[in-house]
Amino acid sequence: MTEFNSHSGADPRLAGGRLTIDISALIANYRLLRELSDGARTAGVVKANAYGLGIETVVPALLAAGCEDFFVALPEEGIAVRRLATDARIFVLAGLFEAEAAPFYSEARLIPVLNTQRDIAIWEAHCGTEGAALPCAIHVDTGMNRLGLTVERALAYARENALTRALEPVLLMTHLACADEPMHPLNLKQVEAFRRVREAYGGIEASMANSPGIFLGEITRFDLTRPGIALYGGQPVNGASKPLRPVVTAEARIVQVRHARAGESASYGAHAMLERGTTIAVAAVGYADGYHRSGSGAGVPLRAAIPQGAYGFVAGRRVPVLGRVTMDLTLFDVTDCAPDTVQPGDHIELFGPNIPIDEAAHAAGTIAYELLTSLGHRWQRRVVGAVTDA
Ligand SMILES: *Cc1c(COP(=O)(O)O)cnc(C)c1O
Repeated sequence: MTEFNSHSGADPRLAGGRLTIDISALIANYRLLRELSDGARTAGVVKANAYGLGIETVVPALLAAGCEDFFVALPEEGIAVRRLATDARIFVLAGLFEAEAAPFYSEARLIPVLNTQRDIAIWEAHCGTEGAALPCAIHVDTGMNRLGLTVERALAYARENALTRALEPVLLMTHLACADEPMHPLNLKQVEAFRRVREAYGGIEASMANSPGIFLGEITRFDLTRPGIALYGGQPVNGASKPLRPVVTAEARIVQVRHARAGESASYGAHAMLERGTTIAVAAVGYADGYHRSGSGAGVPLRAAIPQGAYGFVAGRRVPVLGRVTMDLTLFDVTDCAPDTVQPGDHIELFGPNIPIDEAAHAAGTIAYELLTSLGHRWQRRVVGAVTDA
């Protein structure tokens, strides 16, 4: 058993907000995704500092659970993961920016995901200089029009490389555009295109499924799956609740509890008109902490698209955000909590076991991915839990 118990970020006595990262839940999610991957290897996508949770926490935990493959977006991130994972395969999704970048990849034994003919030319030249066909991955775009060779180009390159043997791709990958909508017709089109390209590349490993892709079942599975958000407790499939455990709990310190009269208003712009005598808990969290201003309370004009505001959870109840979220402070209407159960020094949950992260994100007009990767630097961070032997 490997126990995780650490503190970082702000001093707990001085911090406005605290994040609790539950390693046991992270690993339960990893094991569930591995089980659903049914024989395919299961990587960990740890780009953007492991979706804001911290690679120094997430990478060792995934390693202890047997994960051997990691994906990052940028070479700098790959170099940081290498310091934590001596033997793992580390794939860099953004490709090769320029020829001068290539030596950094080989020095840290990073595997570039080659997205363009230019990437391929840079890596071929670099392998020539090094006198070795260093591993790489080939990305084919099957319908997202984001990164990767077109299907035609990927098929042509398979023939060219079979002759020149200039590169030794260890992985062929593509990325699903609509996996979170299981019935979307693009999913099957992408699978068919990817199968065609895969045949041209012979026996090399293939990878397609992100978190929602894993839930599409056998057709997207191939040899290696690439979950990100589901590891961190986000629901991968729109509108469907999958048995993933919440990993991150975000709470904010209540710094003042005040009473306002009916007819008064609250926060900037005076948009929250109080229809009753209201008890307001003032929490030390705001948009500077990634608690988005677009999650302001109901009735605030900037909320037109999603009228329902965000909620917190305190004293056993869900309580609505009141008025605009400000840079450092957010107001919650705690009038319905039992008298005196909410006090300065208490913490209010923003998302976690009682307020699903997807709900908090939706209330701010965004997705769990953006909520997690926006959390900022002012939080106290604590890591709890353990990796038990499976
Ligand atoms: C971010 C990313 C993933 C992980 O996606 P999730 O939806 O978080 O599981 C997988 N593959 C690629 C290419 C990505 O960019």
